[in-house]
Amino acid sequence: MSKTIIVSNRLPVKITEKDGEYVLNPSEGGLATGLGSIYRQGYNIWIGWPGVDVNEAAQGQIKQQLGTMNLMPVYLTQDEINNYYEGFSNEVLWPVFHYMSVYARYEQVYWDYYYQVNTKFRDAVLEVAEPGDVIWIHDYQLLLLPGMIRAAAPDVAIGYFQHIPFPSFELFRLIPWRVELLEGMLGADLLGFHTFDDSHHFLNAVTRLLPLNANANVVTVNDRAVVAETFPMGIDNNKFELLSQDPEVIKQVESLRENFQGTHMVLSIDRLDYSKGIIQRLQAFELFLQLYPEYIEKVVLYMIVVPSRDSVAQYKELRDAIDMLAGGINARFRTLNWHPINYFYRSFPVETLSALYSFADVGLVTPMRDGMNLVSKEYVASRKDSNGVLILSEMAGASKELIDALIVNPNNIGAIARAIHEALNMPEGEQRRRMKQMQQIVSKFNISHWVKLFMARLQEVKQLQQSML
Ligand code: UDP
Repeated sequence: MSKTIIVSNRLPVKITEKDGEYVLNPSEGGLATGLGSIYRQGYNIWIGWPGVDVNEAAQGQIKQQLGTMNLMPVYLTQDEINNYYEGFSNEVLWPVFHYMSVYARYEQVYWDYYYQVNTKFRDAVLEVAEPGDVIWIHDYQLLLLPGMIRAAAPDVAIGYFQHIPFPSFELFRLIPWRVELLEGMLGADLLGFHTFDDSHHFLNAVTRLLPLNANANVVTVNDRAVVAETFPMGIDNNKFELLSQDPEVIKQVESLRENFQGTHMVLSIDRLDYSKGIIQRLQAFELFLQLYPEYIEKVVLYMIVVPSRDSVAQYKELRDAIDMLAGGINARFRTLNWHPINYFYRSFPVETLSALYSFADVGLVTPMRDGMNLVSKEYVASRKDSNGVLILSEMAGASKELIDALIVNPNNIGAIARAIHEALNMPEGEQRRRMKQMQQIVSKFNISHWVKLFMARLQEVKQLQQSML
């Protein structure tokens, strides 16, 4: 019987070390939950890096322990993490794919390690793969893997999903190793992207750079049909709906209500990243207070920035700039009893996130670029009374589905300031009408729907290939 192999850079597990002992805990991200229905079954398996440097003596034992959870580790050395992950993935692909190519550093050594680590993943896959298996590869750290597996094991079905944007040709062409990347991706039978534009950009790069012909969304590679298609990823909607009714969450909402009596809350949650538009969002909030001074003491921006990579210079600079701007706005507008921005540089447990999603009058999500953006969907799923307003950047993949949000251009500070005002003044009826529409979408196109759709389509593509022989 054939099995399914999931491959991603990170395994869905958190390993912590305590006095030389390793403790394994499954992680609870939406993707891990969605794919849980697959990798936990039978002989299915998830292959990836366990996320920590496991000392050599313990590697065998941890591999065995992970095996009981249907997980298989690919151990990476510090040099590999620095050059393949921090280097090529996060300093070449991440900035270019998010349209911030000025941040890219095209170092040959990054590429060499990227190639080498993709080979390491290939070897791990080949250890367990058998003819007829289905292999589903996730995200931009593993762009070469589909091609490497195809060359060694042609009799498997390979799917690839990209969780970040695929940029327009003019950006993608900047990468010195652009042809190798595309050839790697085309080892897959089905390539999935969050939006139509992403798949279109990919096909455009293929036809211009290789060049291969694309017939609609099908590219023929050595007589094999390869399909590129749009699969907007959903969230674990049930989890957020249920959380909003959890007694602990309700308690936290009560306490927020006491603390913020008569004050509107605008909520912003992101990881520290230059793609998230945090500076522009702060500038927009400042402009809002300037344009509408009647909101002084009546509104608070609750801003959570989750720490990320702040040992890297660009991220540290961004963090300093946020600190300074938020501090400046607070100093400028605060009164004896109130300050406009509650800024946290830390992460929170999901119960607190749920309480904030439930309580906030406005969800303010304005990335410069985002593959999908799950925070916007989690806000929608948590609104149990179907009120509240979502302000959403047109550069987030989610804006193609959540069309009842107030859609803004994240570079247009004035438009964001006016949208905050519009949101705070939106009649309750209109809030509900818009929120209900969005809730229907988020609930229907949830993470398990997404997993099923992708897997079913991969089977169809294999059948299509058979019928073309
Ligand atoms: N999140 C979290 N802890 C926090 C704040 C956020 O786990 O303190 C989660 C949030 O619930 C969401 C994810 O981080 O699921 C962020 O996903 P998104 O797609 O919005 O952005 P990404 O960070 O993947 O670019």
